[in-house]
Order: sequence, then C-alpha cells, then structure tokens
Amino acid sequence: MMILKHMTLYILWLLIPGCLFAEVNSLVRIYTDHDTPSLYRKMQVMGADIAAADISLGYIDVILESEQQKAFSKEGYQMELLIPDINTYAAQLRAGNYLSHFHSNDEILAQMQQTAQQFPDIVALYDIGDSYLKTIGRKGFDIWAMKISDEAAMEDPSEAQVLFMANIHAREIITPGIILRLMQLLTDGYQRDPYLTHLVDHREIWLIPTLNPDGYEYVFTGNPENRDFNNRSNPDPLWWRKNMGDNDGDTVFNPRRDGVDINRNFGFKWGIDDFGSSPKISDDTFRGVSPFSEVETQIIRDFVGMHRFIISTSLHSYSNLWLYPWGYSTTDQVPTSDLNAFVALAERCVAYNGYTAEPGSALYLVNGCSDDWLYGEHGIFAFTSEVGDPFIDGFFPDTTRIEPLIHENVGPCLFLIYAAGEEPIVTCETVSDTLAPFNSQMVRAKIEKPIVLTGPVDLDSTAVTLSYRHYDNNEFTRTSMKYDPLKMEFAAEISGIGAMGKTIYYYVEASDSKGRFGTSPIGAPAAVDSFFVQGIDRVEDDIKPASVELTNFPNPFNQQTTIRFALEKSSTIRLDIYNIRGQHVRNLAAQVYPLGTFSQKWDGRDDSGYWLDSGVYYCRLVSDDEVRVQKLLIIK
Ligand SMILES: [Zn+2]
Repeated sequence: MMILKHMTLYILWLLIPGCLFAEVNSLVRIYTDHDTPSLYRKMQVMGADIAAADISLGYIDVILESEQQKAFSKEGYQMELLIPDINTYAAQLRAGNYLSHFHSNDEILAQMQQTAQQFPDIVALYDIGDSYLKTIGRKGFDIWAMKISDEAAMEDPSEAQVLFMANIHAREIITPGIILRLMQLLTDGYQRDPYLTHLVDHREIWLIPTLNPDGYEYVFTGNPENRDFNNRSNPDPLWWRKNMGDNDGDTVFNPRRDGVDINRNFGFKWGIDDFGSSPKISDDTFRGVSPFSEVETQIIRDFVGMHRFIISTSLHSYSNLWLYPWGYSTTDQVPTSDLNAFVALAERCVAYNGYTAEPGSALYLVNGCSDDWLYGEHGIFAFTSEVGDPFIDGFFPDTTRIEPLIHENVGPCLFLIYAAGEEPIVTCETVSDTLAPFNSQMVRAKIEKPIVLTGPVDLDSTAVTLSYRHYDNNEFTRTSMKYDPLKMEFAAEISGIGAMGKTIYYYVEASDSKGRFGTSPIGAPAAVDSFFVQGIDRVEDDIKPASVELTNFPNPFNQQTTIRFALEKSSTIRLDIYNIRGQHVRNLAAQVYPLGTFSQKWDGRDDSGYWLDSGVYYCRLVSDDEVRVQKLLIIK
C-alpha cells in the first residue's frame, strides 16, 4: 500500500514548486512536537481535512493542497509525504477493483437479511429510519439495526444492552465489516460455542453496521455526476467523510459546500468552541446548523432514547486508539468512579490488540461527537475504536490487512458485551506444581469487580469454587478455593494422582454477596479448561540433554538398592520415593550437592521405618533445573 511504501522508504520532504502541481491534494503527516493546539488551529483556519492524529506519537495526518504544504514547510514543520496525489491514488485503487474487497451497502443489507432469516429466534432486524437522501426522495437508504439475543423479538429487562455502530464517517470502509463479523460469530456460534452462547443468552446486542449509507455509497460509486476532475482540487469521493446534507440548499450536491460531519452533530456540548468542530459549511468537520440537525443523528438520538444501553462502541479509522470521553475538553474529566471504569474497560480492550487507550481529547479536541453525548446524556460507557495502524494501514489498508484488522477488534467487542453484564469477572490460571508427583496442578483464580458497577466486590464474602473431572468421568468434583489475602487470589489444587495419561477438565465459579455470578471460562460448565496429566512415565521419555543422571542397582531388588545420581553442576537435590498411586513414601535427600557423582542407599522402607510391599515404586529426583524419575521394583 502507498502509505507503507512511503513510510518505510522515509522519503524526505521535498519542496515541490507550487506552480507545477497547484491543484494536487496530498496526504501529509506533520509532526507536532509541543505546539499541537496552534498547529491544529492553523489547519482549521485553512479548512484542511484532518485524516488522523495521535498526540502521544506526535503527528497529525492531513490532506493539503500544495500551496498549503508549502506554507507549513516554510514554518519549519517536519513533514512526511504519505500519498503525493490522493486522486491518482484513488484512481489506482478503483482501477484495481479495491473496493470489491469491502461490503457495499447492498451487500451489508443482504447479509443482515440472510442472517435474520437463518436465525429467527435470536435475530431481529429493524429499519430505524431513512438516510438524508431518502428523506428528500433521492436514491437513499434505510438505516438498519440488528438485535441479537435469545428471544430476540422480546425485550428482557434483566439483560444488559450493548450497542455497536460503524461507518459514521463515509471513508472509514474497514469498519462495517467488523460489525458484520460480530453478527456472524454470535449467530453461527450460538449453541456451539459456550462463550458466544452465553453472550447471546444473557445480553441484548444491537448492531448498526453503517450510520452513513449515503456517504458510503458516494465513496463506493464515486458518483460521476459529482466528480470534477477538471478542477483537480476536488478530492476523489473515496476520501469523503461527511453525510450528503445540502448545506447551501441549492439541491445540487457540491463537495466544496455540502455535507455535515455526523460525529460533530450530537447534542452534547455541541458547538461550544471551534476546536475540531467547524461552523463553516465547506469544512470536513462542519457540525451542522444546530445540534441534531441531521437525520442520522436524530435516528441515533431516538433509538438510544428507547433503550437502556450500558456500553457502546463506535468504530472509526484510523490510528490504533481506543478512546473514551471526554472529547470536548482536556480539563474536564468524567467523575472518578466512572473514569476508573472507563480506564479498566479500555485497558482490557487494548490488551487484545495493543491499541492505545486514552480520552478522546488526547487525540484532538472535538465537540458534538457521539461518545460525549452517549455518556453525557445517557451515562453509557461509550468507546471509539480508531481501527488501523497509522504506519501501515490508513483509511485504505492493503487487502491482506482486512482480516487482521477485523480480528483485532472483535475480541474487545466481545469482551465489552460480556462486561456489560453484572457478573464478577473471574480469571484463572493453572500452575504446575513441579514438586508434586503426577503433574498435579494448582489452580489460581482472581476476581475482578464487575467493571461498570461502582464499588468494590467484597472478596471475603465471595464464594469461589473449583469443579473438575477426569475426561472419562461425567461427575464434576467441587471444592472450595482458599482465599489468600496477601496475593488477593483464590487457589486450590487438582491432584494428578490416578489420572496419569488422562485429561482433566475444570472450571471456576464465583458468586458474590450481591448474588452475581461469574465463571471461568465463560459459559461453564459447557465450556471448561483442561490440562493433561503427563505422569511420571512421560518424564522418563524426556529427551532433553540431561545434566543429571539417575540410576539404581540392583533393580529389581529385595533388601536394598543403591541409587546413583551424577550432577554436572552444584544443585539443591531432593530425592523421594513414591508408590504407584503417587503417594509419597520416603524422603532420601534434601540438600545442596556439589558437582560430582553420588550414591544413596534405599532399604525399601518408608519414612516411618516400615517395610514396603512388593511392587513398582518411583524414585524422583528434583534438581534446580530438572526432574528425573527412575522406576524401581521390589520383589519379596
Ligand atoms: Zn471517523
């Protein structure tokens, strides 16, 4: 892709004589150092189209005409030419049929309708309003919202509601596919995947794959009637951001005067200043003549008003950011308890994809954006994902990047669906106990409070149980897990005794004093974690070069055998005898030995001095680095 090429080659900024390319628009990256607000202000004054920014990385990507580029260059800004001519670039993409890799409006609707038909019990599809062009009787679109939940046709007040929407900005073409993938996973996975089934059964999930179908269509078709290549300063419609609103009322669409930035038209702190939101109709961040002046924002206002969403995520591109309110101010903060929840949720999200979590205002100040309104008006934990790596993707990622970009956003979205419900979040891990025989496993569980609820979970009154079974046993054994207040975790051990060569399945349940209930893995007991009990025979098969040798003679033996071990370096050595059921019967050594060869006699007695019966025993040697096991046979 062009961006990649130019980034990796680090093409130096050249001052191109303005007279030659006066009407060329370029995508330029300008590095900001410490004067971001003043740079931003300059861009706004000239009405430049800002594509992306990351203040912590210190850049703003902006579409500039060559005269504007010269002006910035003269002021000494460090600049990088990402796409020298955005119209040539667009023409190349169109010639290569690039957009066929993304879903058109028709394909989005067809997929939603097909899914609704295929899964009538868990899917309901609603037309929630007309796009602007449709309201004026031109070729416009219905705006669709899909609900996924068990008994989708009915509302269950006990189930948390979650909202996902995409494509508020027309050119952000990677975003509808993420919503469609969520739709596909949740429906295909229902009653197959325990996690997805749990989400569908216990949440009401709403999906709006495009809120700006008019603008999206313009991007796709590049409507020739509106393209003006005689005046090359008009960017190709591929780069269109706004809706198709008729700002000047002349009934003719003109990209120099028309269109409203839907994500500046929401009615919270709308128009409080001109940072990132413009009163000028020609600007790409034109906020409309009044809050909710646009049908697209009216549709969301009314739709959200009829629901009780806990969490929402709006998908944009690009910058690899996971944003939360506020967008309108860097000095005002959301109340601390909510801020903690925003941060906790966002950090869990970016753990999936390595994005940066930060308030929207850290990107650049805006007002009238959807997240500020969703949170400010309705208290919804509203996030924006800026999908795509600024160094390799941009708005138009290479087709090989489509799948990774979708994938890296689906995980966080599924997590947010889960987190919207009032459940303790249990995370657990197993740790092999190398000192125990037969591959016993210690299961440790941590409880996190339901993030969107305020107030801590009372760990002391939280009951945590571990349930496990061997693969050939249908009954789970349940045991309570012990709370360690120092580590703030719960722990219990699953013994590998009697399970050699078998898989053990297990899950953890937690219920708190408020009666909320969570499991790890999600969807247990249909979903379980597992481990395989290798047992000590497997240790003998270990083929890694041994720094410890373990032998005994004679074997089998009657009265006494001599166990020898050779060490390549000094080590703490523990030498024990176990019976065939994995029970410890005798300790023979527990001390530091120097490099060398040593022998230890065993008389066939246990720690209490009793003779042991005939049969198989295991001698187990644990050094600092490894475990060796030798099979012994007593014959009486
Ligand atoms: Zn956007």
